[in-house]
Amino acid sequence: MINKIKELEKLSRLLDPKESTREKWNSEVLEYSNTFINNLDTSKAFMQSKENGKAIYNLDIEEQAIELTSLLDSTTKNIDGVGINPASGGHMGYIPGGGLYPSALGDYIAAISNRYAGVFYAAPGAVRLENMIIKWMCRLMGYPDTAFGNLTSGGSIANLMALVTAREVRNLKARDFEKAVIYLTKQAHHSILKAIRISGLSEAQLRYIPLDDNLKLSAEHLEKAIVEDKENGLIPFYINASFGTTNTGTIDPLETIAEIAKEHKIWFHVDGAYGGFFKLVKELDSKFKGITEADSITLDPHKTLFLPYGTGAVLIKDKENLLKAYHCLADYMQDIIGKEDEISPADISAEQTKHFRGMRMWLPLKLFGLKPFRAALEEKLNLTKYFYDEIQKTPGFEVGPEPELSVAIFRYVPKDGDANEFNSALIEAIQNDGRIFLSSTNINNVFWIRIAVVQFRTHLEQVDLLLDIIKKYIDDTLTELN
Ligand SMILES: *Cc1c(COP(=O)(O)O)cnc(C)c1O
Repeated sequence: MINKIKELEKLSRLLDPKESTREKWNSEVLEYSNTFINNLDTSKAFMQSKENGKAIYNLDIEEQAIELTSLLDSTTKNIDGVGINPASGGHMGYIPGGGLYPSALGDYIAAISNRYAGVFYAAPGAVRLENMIIKWMCRLMGYPDTAFGNLTSGGSIANLMALVTAREVRNLKARDFEKAVIYLTKQAHHSILKAIRISGLSEAQLRYIPLDDNLKLSAEHLEKAIVEDKENGLIPFYINASFGTTNTGTIDPLETIAEIAKEHKIWFHVDGAYGGFFKLVKELDSKFKGITEADSITLDPHKTLFLPYGTGAVLIKDKENLLKAYHCLADYMQDIIGKEDEISPADISAEQTKHFRGMRMWLPLKLFGLKPFRAALEEKLNLTKYFYDEIQKTPGFEVGPEPELSVAIFRYVPKDGDANEFNSALIEAIQNDGRIFLSSTNINNVFWIRIAVVQFRTHLEQVDLLLDIIKKYIDDTLTELN
């Protein structure tokens, strides 16, 4: 027995490499990351190939160990080298992500110490750190001290958490679902629809409120719909408003919606996954009027706080509501009861054991301080306005509403032929070039090209390059036609 154990120990100790091995691996990973970051200036924002990363299958899980060097080589080739490069300043499609360097270090630290950040008793310091960040976000949004929240894996889960909180707090039972009404617009993010399905609310009535000319929820139509629904014996339950739609960065009229929600006692949710952190730009303060009236807010640090993917946040105005929705006790947790002077993430979310994701957010915020974040967001707003103004100087270009945040839409209207087809070809050309990545969208059957300036590495240079690429394509196409 003892011999067997010792034999096993020899092998199992391989899982705990000695310092010299760790140092070797660290330096290889460091070299990989330096090469990756140094090459960002010249690497593309979008890369297509026939292979498209298929060779990663050659590294399926097997008995034998493989050298780190070959794993990193394959990562560079088969993972980093294909698809969208979210770390590139040329990424201006969808809502770009970030990838702040200190977040990588934060993840490293969190993984090394592996603190059990789900429960206060197990990791009081780690839970305090996460709660401190959550309270900072609550203060940033102008929420009272009663507010609290949870660091999620992203905005979709944050939206789901808000909806489930509302369902539980409003004591909505299965038998009520058919009568419950959820108000949103066609510009709401599709994660709201997912959340409705996941939370069991598929049978609820979805009321799509018409948009005004600026693609904002029409408060007038909202009120009318609510009154009608009440008259028909339905239960107006949930309003989803957007602070920055994904399509156009549009902000719904929060103040008016808040009044309507209050009058009719409807849960008011603001999806600020893309736009919320623009609160850091003082000039935008007035746009946030009414947000403090929201029962819940979604933020997404892995978007406008430039974190790498994997961190969203839900804020709930009254923390009791979070506990009402999520708190459960397990017998095996009896050691913990009464020992907590902080709320544990496990008590207010679906998660139990969880990633200590506070560290990846706290480290960059502390290392840089808030100033560069405010500046970067203001810079992105201005870059978007600059693009919006510049693109209109080229004859034939049409733009959407004046950008409120850092998303704008535009299209080329050719003298002859189908505009949708032309713009579809234009976006394909931009994507084939790959130095800048843009995506498109469809609004009322019109094909628009979108620019979303969110990557912290996007500066004037990249926006000018985009303008050049577009102009060259238009020039070449017009020459070809003539
Ligand atoms: C991105 C986004 C979401 C979804 O967030 P994920 O982090 O991608 O899960 C929700 N709402 C809006 C407005 C978004 O822009």
